[in-house]
Amino acid sequence: MGNDCGHLLDDLVKFDLHCHSHFSDGALSPEMLVARAKEREVDVLALTDHDTIAGLVLAQKAADEQGLKLITGIEFSSQWGKGGVHIVGLGFKLDSTELHAAIAAQNDARSGRAEQIAARLAKAGITGSLEGAQLIAGDAFVGRPHFAQYLINVGAVSNINAAFKKYLGAGKSADVKFQWPVMATIIEWIHAAGGVAVLAHPCKYDLTRTKMCALIKDFAAAGGDALEVVSGMQAHPVTEDLARIAAANNLAASCGSDFHLPGQPWQELGCFPKLPDSCRPVWELLGFAA
Ligand code: AMP
Ligand code: FE
Ligand code: FE
Ligand code: ZN
Repeated sequence: MGNDCGHLLDDLVKFDLHCHSHFSDGALSPEMLVARAKEREVDVLALTDHDTIAGLVLAQKAADEQGLKLITGIEFSSQWGKGGVHIVGLGFKLDSTELHAAIAAQNDARSGRAEQIAARLAKAGITGSLEGAQLIAGDAFVGRPHFAQYLINVGAVSNINAAFKKYLGAGKSADVKFQWPVMATIIEWIHAAGGVAVLAHPCKYDLTRTKMCALIKDFAAAGGDALEVVSGMQAHPVTEDLARIAAANNLAASCGSDFHLPGQPWQELGCFPKLPDSCRPVWELLGFAA
């Protein structure tokens, strides 16, 4: 059977362990997200919003109603050297006090950073961005994508990419030098809550292959459990290469779409290549049989 990304589906259980709702920078509500995942024949889904678990209760309710299995998830912002990296937590206990404290700290940090970004934008002649970004964020904690949307709304830029290129990206006028917690700290939070730590989308950090390998090695040394070997549509040689790097570092392998909004077929729910057979799937660590 085929789906709308033109990929052949087989009888295997389909896991999508990375996606976003409007509780972070995604467009859909958790309920709509679960329905869309179900339509695309996802069997097991993890909602991994940036630094928040606020959407998980609604997602669980929808998953129960629609007969889809939901795994708890979050995508933590972390720091590696001068750059930001993302660590996905999967399968943790929702009532963990350590995790709740960690999320609160992360969001305090996010709020402080938002104020600094707004101050810098004001210096660049763009006023009202904190209130504007907050309004756009709605239920979510303010992130750079909300500032990007505000910049579009006031006509300062014509699209999100331009907002990052002109204002929000590294070295630009509203770039705030900001330190997220290091990987070992975040991995500890996830483990304290009984979860599994996955280094998200290693190819999305703009690193050379050598640097990316160093990052993955550091992640493993910091106690990380798995590498996101598949993140959305990607070329076969990339998947094979990441599978080898995961194995070399004794990491299990995860896969997910990193879905944010409809209309982006390269990161659509359930639409990505299968993990190579050589991988140890992360769901084995989560108590699912292979
Ligand atoms: P934040 O967590 O607030 O730092 O925002 C990071 C998010 O911004 C990422 O997860 C992406 O969704 C988005 N982002 C980062 N860089 C770009 C870019 N150059 N163009 C569009 N979106 C971006
Ligand atoms: Fe995002
Ligand atoms: Fe990410
Ligand atoms: Zn993501």
